[in-house]
Amino acid sequence: MSSPRAGHVVVVGSVNLDISVKVHRLPHPGETVLATSVHRTGGGKGANQAVAAARAGGTATSLIGRVGNDEEGRIMRSLLRHDRLDLRLTTLTDATSGLALVTVDDHAENSIVVAPGANASPVPLSHEDAQVVAQADVLLCQLETPPQLALDAAGHRRPGVPLLLNAAPAMPLPEALWNSIDMLIVNQHEATELTQDTTGTLDHRIAQLLQRTPTVLVTLGKQGSLLATRDQPWLHLPAPAVNAVDTTAAGDTFCGVLAAELANGVTTPNAVATANAAAALAVTRPGAQSSIPDYPEVTAAAL
Ligand code: ATP
Repeated sequence: MSSPRAGHVVVVGSVNLDISVKVHRLPHPGETVLATSVHRTGGGKGANQAVAAARAGGTATSLIGRVGNDEEGRIMRSLLRHDRLDLRLTTLTDATSGLALVTVDDHAENSIVVAPGANASPVPLSHEDAQVVAQADVLLCQLETPPQLALDAAGHRRPGVPLLLNAAPAMPLPEALWNSIDMLIVNQHEATELTQDTTGTLDHRIAQLLQRTPTVLVTLGKQGSLLATRDQPWLHLPAPAVNAVDTTAAGDTFCGVLAAELANGVTTPNAVATANAAAALAVTRPGAQSSIPDYPEVTAAAL
């Protein structure tokens, strides 16, 4: 992660508290089972990606999000203070904080219920938040908050500042948002969902997405990622081979580090290569935010 200059990443997105319980087996409907452990950890795609960008180094990172006026919101504020983040969390009095209830069994099979709470708020950005967006060198959004919020944020960028949209979870997007995206980041499943093309090849889906947005970056799990643009040959950038133990937050690490690298003036192919390296490191250890590497770790792994 080289840093010719320190850029500013602004992430607008979700903040969740993940409550994970371990069980021997998942309960059937109506059944109660006893958990063997409980962990409360920071989550939400917006928060995870902001943590990844902040740990990438050289970058100022702002996180704009919403929490409820409750214990979960206070825990999230306190967890996120550990990272070098410009934290811009608005507390909403009429909503609960975002919660992810994760149950994992002995075979690593899971079931997850997400209560979006404050993340789903339709309230537009405040004047102060809009001013933060106006300082961004790179704007990064996802879809655990309403697409309208990403569009609202896009409207406050300075001219030429790219919007990176990680379209996760995939959903139909308003036309105006399509017209604002500079780089769409999706995994293979999301590429299928967005195009509604279940029979064509991945290349065909990418070609369809490129009709709507100039750059498409598809993450391919252990195979790395594919960088596709309208006017250049497509580039497959492989991920380093690692011993994967938990892929949680791999995609979020990838997006956050990519945004930080681009904000620091790194070329897109080099930024993607570093994002692959960081995400590959994240899958070698358990957890979401706890698995996201920092700058020295990624540079050491890249040597
Ligand atoms: P998740 O939802 O699990 O966070 P995702 O489905 O959004 O991830 P993936 O394509 O699975 O995204 O992974 C994102 C990136 O993480 C990949 O592009 C790659 O760089 C890295 N990665 C994921 N799995 C592996 C792996 N097994 N080995 C090395 N790198 C990996």
